[in-house]
Parts: sequence; structure tokens; C-alpha cells
Amino acid sequence: MHNAAFAALGLDWCYLAFEVAPEHLRTAIEGAQAMNFAGLNLTVPHKILALDLVDALDESARTWGAVNTIRFEGQGADGQWRRLSEFAADGADAPVARRTQGFNTDADGISRSLREDLDLGLRGKRVLLLGAGGAGRAIALKLASEQVAELFLVNRTQSKADEVAVEIRLRFPALPVTVGYPPDAVDLLINATSLGLKPADALPLDLDRFPLPRARAVYDTIYRPATTPLLAAAQAAGCRTANGLGMLLHQGAAAFEIWTGRSAPLAVMRQALEQSIYAR
Ligand code: NAP
Repeated sequence: MHNAAFAALGLDWCYLAFEVAPEHLRTAIEGAQAMNFAGLNLTVPHKILALDLVDALDESARTWGAVNTIRFEGQGADGQWRRLSEFAADGADAPVARRTQGFNTDADGISRSLREDLDLGLRGKRVLLLGAGGAGRAIALKLASEQVAELFLVNRTQSKADEVAVEIRLRFPALPVTVGYPPDAVDLLINATSLGLKPADALPLDLDRFPLPRARAVYDTIYRPATTPLLAAAQAAGCRTANGLGMLLHQGAAAFEIWTGRSAPLAVMRQALEQSIYAR
């Protein structure tokens, strides 16, 4: 999606994937900086490690406790930090210092996707969230920050859901949080477990304890396959549904804007994603 976006904006840039072992992350970031990269995306397990490896943390990375986007910056003679790409390529205006800044674009991705794909604003909604891993924790905190009315957390390993609930109670004391299934209907059910990635996976929830017609809308953070068993069951139960493609799109679009300072061409990026993931 990034390469399609660079092409659409006429930028002579390129997005590449590298496999980096956690013990080499520091060297990899320094190497990319030395080679004048504009920035990096990081995925599991690097997102938390990077918190201690960047020179500056944007508010987003501090808030969500993880870094998925790094921008390489230079300091001008005026003392201001700017994108490295804003300095003259011929070295006429070389930076006097360089730094890395860490951002997190993951959490905003889901709320934008919920608005666009389900026409659903989070404020005042009752939400059941399945999963308390990296994505589940970030989504739970995002839901709390967007002032949902009530949050129910369910996870296979209950102690992890308990830990997320404790963190939410500390940071958002006004929000009622329950670990366990809600006794009645919710506006939104979100799957943030990895159940559904494989065709033989079981559903990520216990239908005896929470029948799907009790959810008005169901969002699966999984985007491959496009229709997970959960989404198929939710559609059969009459729920509105969306998969996690929009979440992936929007975290990428936000990173694109951090690196380039230009508005992300969303339609181009969505089409590139759909072509690459669903071959359509
Ligand atoms: P993670 O940290 O490894 O967490 C995995 C979660 O799935 C945990 O809650 C885990 O429960 C649960 N789980 C795994 N296997 C299970 C099983 N057999 N039965 C019940 N629960 C099981 O992974 P993550 O980074 O949070 O990712 C979670 C999901 O979010 C993945 O499906 C990923 O594709 C999706 N995701 C989507 C996007 C996007 O842009 N759309 C971005 C990030 C993540 P335990 O705590 O009990 O192990």
C-alpha cells in the first residue's frame, strides 16, 4: 500500500520489508538512519523493545506503550527538528544533529475503521472485547479513551484480561470494566484474538454464554481470510460486520503522513491492499 501511495504522489520512495532478530533491532535502526531512510514500521516483537531504543517518543507511543512507526529526523541550524527528507539532497543544508522519534499509529487505526466500515462512533457504546494480547490491550485502552459506556473483556488466559482491566481502572477510573461476558446486548463485539486466522480455528467466544444476536455489530481485527468463521456466524445472526482491513489501512496511512508530511491517498492504498491480500 505504501509503494502504491508513493507512486500516486510521484514520490521516488520505496517501502521494503526486512526480517530483523530482536537482538539486532538497535543495530538495524542505526543502520537505517545511517542510510538516510525516512522512517520504519515495526511489528511484533519489536514494538515494545523500540520504546527504549528511540531518542524521542511522540505522545501516541507514550500513551499506547509501543512504537510501530519511527521517523528519522534532523536538526536544522535554527534548532528545529524536521524530517530528514526535508533537508537538501546535495548536502547544502545538512542537519547539525540527527534523532529517531517513535510513534504509534495502531490505536487510531481501529477507531477510524469502525467509523468508516461500521458507521460506528465509540462514545457511549457498550463493547465486548475478545483478546488481551498486544492488539487487545491497545484496543481496550483506545476504547476507554474514546469514552465507551461500558467494557467487557474476555480472554483465554483470564489473568491477562485482569491485568488490562486493572490498567484501565487506573487510567480511566470512570469507565465500568468487567472481566467476563455481558449478561445482555452490546453495541459492538471485537475479536482481537488470533482465532480465525486458520480455517480450522474454533470461534473466539462461547456462544452459550454470549449468543451472537446480542451484538449489534461485530468487528474482527483479522483481515485474512476476509470472512472469518466469526464474521460468517455474525452475518448469519443478522449483525453488521467488518474485518480488520480498515485497521491495517489506517495505521499505514497515518505512518505515511508521519514520514512524508503529505495526505495519504487512502483510495489508492485500500485498492493496493485489497489487490495484494484478496487478489481483486
Ligand atoms: P498476541 O499478542 O499474540 O495475542 C494473541 C491473542 O489471541 C491473545 O489474547 C491470546 O490469548 C489469543 N489466543 C491465541 N490463541 C488462542 C486460542 N487457541 N484460543 C483462545 N485464544 C487464543 O497477538 P496480537 O498482536 O494481539 O494479535 C491478535 C490478533 O489481532 C491477530 O489475529 C492479529 O491478526 C490481529 N491484528 C490485526 C491488526 C490489523 O491491522 N488489522 C493489527 C494487529 C493485530 P492468551 O492471552 O490466552 O494467549
